[in-house]
Amino acid sequence: MASPTVDKNVLAQGREDLVALFRISALHGYNEAIDNHFSLAVDGHDDLFLLNAYGPHWSETRTSDIVLVDLDGNVVDGTGSGAITAMQIHRQLHRARPDARCIMHTHMPYASAVACTKGGFNERLTQNAMSFYGTVATLSYGGQVEGDAEGLRLAKAVAKGANVIFLQNHGVIVIGKTPAQAWLRTYFLERACEVQVLAQSTGDELVLAPKKVAQLTNSQWEKNSDEEAPPLFAAMKRLLDRDQPRWNR
Ligand SMILES: [Zn+2]
Repeated sequence: MASPTVDKNVLAQGREDLVALFRISALHGYNEAIDNHFSLAVDGHDDLFLLNAYGPHWSETRTSDIVLVDLDGNVVDGTGSGAITAMQIHRQLHRARPDARCIMHTHMPYASAVACTKGGFNERLTQNAMSFYGTVATLSYGGQVEGDAEGLRLAKAVAKGANVIFLQNHGVIVIGKTPAQAWLRTYFLERACEVQVLAQSTGDELVLAPKKVAQLTNSQWEKNSDEEAPPLFAAMKRLLDRDQPRWNR
């Protein structure tokens, strides 16, 4: 049963937002089989977060597939359980960054491809890439996440302020203060990585913006994203309303 101290409307909205994130991510081809996971800290409760139970395909995820979990990894509301990996990663990240309300871990193809290159993500290549300037961390691969150690290593990176973590030989983690902001960042990160891969595939020398310009672009983006994220997320939900009636039931 849900803790009586948690507002039911907050939980319902959180579950719906996560379902939207899974379904629109599936529409964009960001899923890998039925793996990977998103979480959302519950407003007013830094010790509780919503997480997808392991099993459903992202395109069929329903609100009943989203469980409520505490920071020790116990399911306190809902049926099913998150993958062990998911529990370890998300509980440590939420613990390290209370402002990181929404956390998306994907193996989306272009970001994962960039995570496998020595040079990694180039924060000065495209306008989209520059929006992430100074907010990206890269971590070496440490095997599949099973114990606390890997989750703590990831937590250390976000504790320093990173909003994006490239996991070498693996995938990416994107965090946002709302589901809308997490989606905005995830979408534009994948677009930036797609263009980087295409640009690198030409074999031509890359044109990089000066660091000052990249820094300016990041500050402009940070200033505007609060306004731009909600309309984009709302548009994505309208696509679901149009093509997947009852997606949020
Ligand atoms: Zn993964």
